Amino acid sequence: MAEVFHSACPLNCWDSCGLKVEVEGGKVTKVEGDEEHPITKGKICGRGRMLEQRVNSPERLRYPLKRVNGSFERISWEDALDEIAAEMKRYKQQYGSLSILHSHDYANAGFLTNLDSRFFNCFGGVTELIGSICWGAGIEAQCQDFGDAYSHAPGELFESRSIIVWGRNVARTNMHLYETLIEAKGRGAKLVVIDPIANATAKIADEYITVKPGFDGLLAAGILKELLRLHLEDKKFLSECSQGFEELRKLLESITLESISNMTEVPQKSITMLAKLYGNRPVSTLIGLGMQRYHNGGSTIRMIDAVVAASGNVGIAGGGANYANRQVGQSFHYEGITLPHRKKAHRTFTMMKQAEMMLQAKDPEIKMAFVTCGNPLTQLPNSSRAEKAFSSLEMLVVADSFLTDTAKLAHYVLPIAAAFETEDIYYSSMYHHYVNHGPKLVNPPGEAKTDAWIWGELAKRLGFENDFSFSREELIKMGVGPLQKRGISLERLRQEKFAELPVDRVPWHDHEFKTESGKFEFYQGEGGAESLLPNETKWREESIATMYPYNLLSIHPMRSNHSQHYHLLPQLPYVKVEISVDIAAKKDIKDGDSVRVWNSRGELEGIASILKQAHPNTINIDEGLSRRFGGTVNVLTPDLESDNGMGSTLYDCLVNLEKIC
Ligand code: SF4
Repeated sequence: MAEVFHSACPLNCWDSCGLKVEVEGGKVTKVEGDEEHPITKGKICGRGRMLEQRVNSPERLRYPLKRVNGSFERISWEDALDEIAAEMKRYKQQYGSLSILHSHDYANAGFLTNLDSRFFNCFGGVTELIGSICWGAGIEAQCQDFGDAYSHAPGELFESRSIIVWGRNVARTNMHLYETLIEAKGRGAKLVVIDPIANATAKIADEYITVKPGFDGLLAAGILKELLRLHLEDKKFLSECSQGFEELRKLLESITLESISNMTEVPQKSITMLAKLYGNRPVSTLIGLGMQRYHNGGSTIRMIDAVVAASGNVGIAGGGANYANRQVGQSFHYEGITLPHRKKAHRTFTMMKQAEMMLQAKDPEIKMAFVTCGNPLTQLPNSSRAEKAFSSLEMLVVADSFLTDTAKLAHYVLPIAAAFETEDIYYSSMYHHYVNHGPKLVNPPGEAKTDAWIWGELAKRLGFENDFSFSREELIKMGVGPLQKRGISLERLRQEKFAELPVDRVPWHDHEFKTESGKFEFYQGEGGAESLLPNETKWREESIATMYPYNLLSIHPMRSNHSQHYHLLPQLPYVKVEISVDIAAKKDIKDGDSVRVWNSRGELEGIASILKQAHPNTINIDEGLSRRFGGTVNVLTPDLESDNGMGSTLYDCLVNLEKIC
């Protein structure tokens, strides 16, 4: 007979939904939303519902695999782990532990996925990744401005007079915020969406502003100029709680509103409207995770922060520059789980440049990579270079539940347990501040094991088994340790399913910032207005812009969490090339036509789909598609770093396009 249990969505997503999971005969038979969850209230998206297909998929990896003469063969766990451990030992002795790269990402939001870091730290330290493909530049930007990246609690939005959703399609990526927006609108808030694509969120907006991709920072400069001209700035905040504004003022004075309007392709009257809106507090700004994926990504987020701060919308109910909420992740004892003090050697590659750095590394060279929680071959920019780097390794080990593009290149593939097959706690530092509990409900298929088991077995073979002599329960308890004094324990989570974390609902309300000065630090615009421009634009690179006249975005797919769901969709996915109306008219392209998209990094073929309302000269190809369905958009994207050194420049990408007859 079927039984229903509570659980939590493990996907790397804003919403971190509470789930109800039906189990019958040792098998997950249905996944639904948990109505009792205070934020997600029983509603989940298709990606969450498809977790049932994901865990039961016939494509799940059931046995460890070893590459022999170019093909995979089944190998016993005993042999696979013995051989991997022996190679790790040899590389450490011969070249040092830094000859091993740990490449990881965030495919699973379970807290104990962090045990991979514990393993590599206790091994002595390996070459690690810093920065992120996704939100790194923005996090760094907010750390420079505020001292950290904190957001207001979801319900605080009802205090806002206006809500600006800037570069964030919450209808696709943050469905519970979408519902809150509708409710806030119903209570009288004005909703403005700024985005190059008139997406589903824009459809519910009172005002929609389209902006040239990559020019949001310059648009923010225009708003700030108008805010000052109209004397709408918060003088008290500027004089008492901030520093650096006079330097920023020089940047603003170096460019006219007319030039800003011309370059951003936003009418001056819209910029003035936005300035007036910001001056009429409280205004909540909900910042997306796309605008920072440019060369100027850090500057862009800092300029948006500057508008929010100068207009007096920091630290007030209904305000905020809401980008990420790191208060959530900081509630847990991360260091107790990862033991960073145990590493003796240390080298970092940025996530963006991991392929290039793998190829160029000396003293020591990278001999081996261990991939956890990620699929770099599909997700890394400039995937041709990524393929070259991962193919050049003497040894590649991938732990995954499916044979991803990256796993297909591996020497050993280790099958791991998925959601519902092991106990963990789940949270997201992007939106709400609840931690959810997910119990073990079913056994993993075949011989698949939890990643914790794999680390423990390898640690045993490498001589540090004591660091892994803890049960899963003990490890989760270590993680929630700091919350015990607030009454949040594993026992309580098991019983109550979720708990509200003790975070500040209105961050920075005391205007005491975590910056060195204790004040809000305004972006100072070294390099002037040019620092607000993307790399690939006619304003910087005229010849490139002539050869490749279209801006390429690679936004989050609707039905897949990055590359995780495409292979489970009922209809075979394909490369959908979304193009703005003006491109379609110029090239005589209709929906369904075959097209080729290319630049100096690579090319991709796909099927055209015309975006009825998108900024001129804009193309989108959703990210995450694997090779068997036509290939990843990342054959086209650049692997440079954003201006604050940690983020990606995935969207800073010009391309050309033609119809294939
Ligand atoms: S993917 Fe996001 S919205 Fe969908 S069920 Fe999971 S947490 Fe909820």
